[in-house]
Amino acid sequence: MVEADEPGVTVRDVVIIGSGPAGLTAAVYSARANLAPLLLEGEPSSTSDQPGGQLMLTTEVENFPGFPEGVMGPELMGRMREQALRFGTEVVTAKATSVDFSSHPLRIRSGDEEHLSRAVIVSTGARSLMLGLPAESRLLGHGLSTCATCDGFFFRGREIAVVGGGDSALEEALFLTKFASKVTLIHRRDQLRASKIMQERALRNDRIEFLWNHTVVDLHGETRLEAAVVRDTISGAQRVFPLDGLFVAIGHQPNTDIFAGQLDRDAAGYLVTGPGTATNVPGVFACGDVQDHTYRQAITAAGSGCMAAIDAERWLEATGHG
Ligand code: NAP
Repeated sequence: MVEADEPGVTVRDVVIIGSGPAGLTAAVYSARANLAPLLLEGEPSSTSDQPGGQLMLTTEVENFPGFPEGVMGPELMGRMREQALRFGTEVVTAKATSVDFSSHPLRIRSGDEEHLSRAVIVSTGARSLMLGLPAESRLLGHGLSTCATCDGFFFRGREIAVVGGGDSALEEALFLTKFASKVTLIHRRDQLRASKIMQERALRNDRIEFLWNHTVVDLHGETRLEAAVVRDTISGAQRVFPLDGLFVAIGHQPNTDIFAGQLDRDAAGYLVTGPGTATNVPGVFACGDVQDHTYRQAITAAGSGCMAAIDAERWLEATGHG
């Protein structure tokens, strides 16, 4: 840290925005590289847009290496946070509300506070689009899921459904046939949006049934999902559809609004990176789901967080700031 041109204002080496597996791993690595990172971890909320990110909304995580018995999502994130703190990360429970990357030092605003930094690591993640039903926040992680790879295993021999008609929904439905006794794909139209090859695979899989022209309008179950209320979009008729699990796969939205006009984004809003984790602004790096719509796993996010910290450290060294 050094004094900026303005007296009393310090410029940090690294500010990390976002505290999922990518941001916390970037914090561990940059703290251990003596960069004294500041981590803006976000603010508590009932969506994935909260400290710890999407894993705060899952229950058991069984595929994160090193936890042979599995680990609860919030516990895993708590441990990563402790590890980041142990090496000297300064964690601030606040959201970045705007950024100015047009000149150096880079500026990150969080409400009334402004942080100045030579390098910034963006790890603001993505959120699964949800149906917007009031019961969703209560049942997420309790029969309701947004990730088949994470939770499919818990539904062995059960009857489940997937909502959506795109590639994600079909991919999830096909994956879930490995565990579930029956998978019903609930789609609001009678035509799938997914690619032809995925459609063919799903249509010829006799474990997948299709409930065309239906939407989910309510969920039943206090502590665990018991049923979905589905509505026929043509007749308007509603009925209760008993279920052990429901996977919502209607798309994801990267959390990149505050970077609009400053960092390059693809057509879907994801940050464009490369080489490595570099963005189009020198000194700004991005990792985790905010720049990855393909893998979206805790372990891949953590891996790219490590890459971003190393890229930032090397950039600081190469530009004479290290
Ligand atoms: P998507 O293509 O946007 O599809 C979203 C689906 O959800 C659509 O079928 C849509 O219905 C439905 N939907 C949206 N909002 C809904 C709501 N409120 N209620 C009920 N249904 C709703 O999203 P995606 O499947 O996540 O795919 C995103 C991109 O990633 C695509 O380009 C896709 O090709 C790609 N992807 C590729 C692969 C692969 O190649 N293996 C895997 C996953 C994703 P409508 O059809 O009626 O709009």
